[in-house]
Amino acid sequence: MSARQTMIGALFVDSGLEPDPADPTGRLRRIRPPRAGYACYLCGARLGPVHGRDVPAFVADTSISHRATCPATTTQGATAA
Ligand SMILES: [Zn+2]
Repeated sequence: MSARQTMIGALFVDSGLEPDPADPTGRLRRIRPPRAGYACYLCGARLGPVHGRDVPAFVADTSISHRATCPATTTQGATAA
């Protein structure tokens, strides 16, 4: 018996870092502030993007908090995709 898995959302995180081409050790350099966003595949909501210091809390909380309030899962009679 195998469990069926369904992707219900995607969390996008851009660290804003890339390898420094001038550094042979591959050290990372910041080229832009970090940013993050979330897309819900059940209701179509797009949350964010958020930038900078807001990214860690967004990444930690958004998918869980949205799941609790997602119209596709909280509306009576709705069916999950
Ligand atoms: Zn949703």
